[in-house]
Amino acid sequence: MAVRRSSTLLDERSLFAEYPFLAGAESLLGGESVSVRGLLSDEAYARARSIGRARVLAAADDPRATKDVEELAGAEPDVRYLSFLFAQILLAAAPSPAALRRWAVAEAKRTHGRLRDVPVDELVEVARRLGFAMEEAGPERVQTSLVDYLRLATPIREADFRLSRQDVAHGRVLVGRGRGARLLQEAVRLRLGVPVPLASDVSALVREQEAELFASVAERMPLPVARTSGPVGAIRATRFPPCIRKMQRTLEAGENLSHSGRFALASFLHRVGADFETIVDAYRGAPDFDESVTRYQVEHITHHRGGVGYEPPECDTLRSHGLCFREGDPTAPLPVDRQSDPLCHESRLRHPLQYYRLKGGTVVDRSDGDDGPASSPSGAAPDTSRSPARARSTGPR
Ligand code: SF4
Repeated sequence: MAVRRSSTLLDERSLFAEYPFLAGAESLLGGESVSVRGLLSDEAYARARSIGRARVLAAADDPRATKDVEELAGAEPDVRYLSFLFAQILLAAAPSPAALRRWAVAEAKRTHGRLRDVPVDELVEVARRLGFAMEEAGPERVQTSLVDYLRLATPIREADFRLSRQDVAHGRVLVGRGRGARLLQEAVRLRLGVPVPLASDVSALVREQEAELFASVAERMPLPVARTSGPVGAIRATRFPPCIRKMQRTLEAGENLSHSGRFALASFLHRVGADFETIVDAYRGAPDFDESVTRYQVEHITHHRGGVGYEPPECDTLRSHGLCFREGDPTAPLPVDRQSDPLCHESRLRHPLQYYRLKGGTVVDRSDGDDGPASSPSGAAPDTSRSPARARSTGPR
């Protein structure tokens, strides 16, 4: 059972060692000036670099932060802080933005693991230094402004965080300390999910110097894997339609994806032949990711009708749910995702699976001969497709 510490606020040095992302943490260096290039190559910072790499790899391995980063134990506060800075530099230069998002989620969850059990004054102090005006409201409660509450609670899908279930008075929202800690998890994720600015030559240097580390991260975050049974070929994620790519980016960013979007993504991945673990893995970045719940839901979607699975929604349905991105996504890191997609504008294009087929991807066809509409579970994003059963081919839908 977790032991809650009595109300003794940590001294600043210990506070910053635990929460290196807080404003003022640079004071751990005692006025020493550390340049980015120095941190990248100076022998004096070799240990900080090694621990920074461990932080990045731990997040790639364990995005739910169920285990401690062993290398952090026993490290001096200034080394811990520098390791954190080094991890931020690595992730800002990483070839894929997914690694940064995963790390932000893992660090936020690790912070939450601590905040759940600290005295309320520590919770309030962390919130203050993160820029949120949280105040004590009794021994086990805190209050925050309505605006801050909405900003932090919106990505959290748990029903208990809905505003209608909160105690709201005079523009303030009162919550229990546990809920306050969960809100701060979001605050940390938001802060760490933004890459630190790096000059292009520094980025190039980091990529070259840390190529081995980036290869290890990529191995730990594999591309979609096809099922070993059935007629499916390799999965070509680069040929997924804009809507599906956006859903993947949303989850990788640790942002909330609507129930309709989650259903569409799982059913799409299943139909293009992704294996069960790949589908579950797609949801690991979700702010409310829960392994057992996700497994249950993915099982439900993929085992429907003897393993055929639910049919993903058609384009019209996705559009009505605000999930179609054929005009491009201005926030996407890759130019290809920011542009309007010509294929999506063709009048024949009615379904994301059809898009994938037309791009040369292979789709597992419905094999039960029953092509009635397959509604999504819990009434989400009902699929209205009534297209006839097809041979197992990659021909147009
Ligand atoms: S047109 Fe269809 S396939 Fe293209 S982005 Fe929109 S919903 Fe997806």
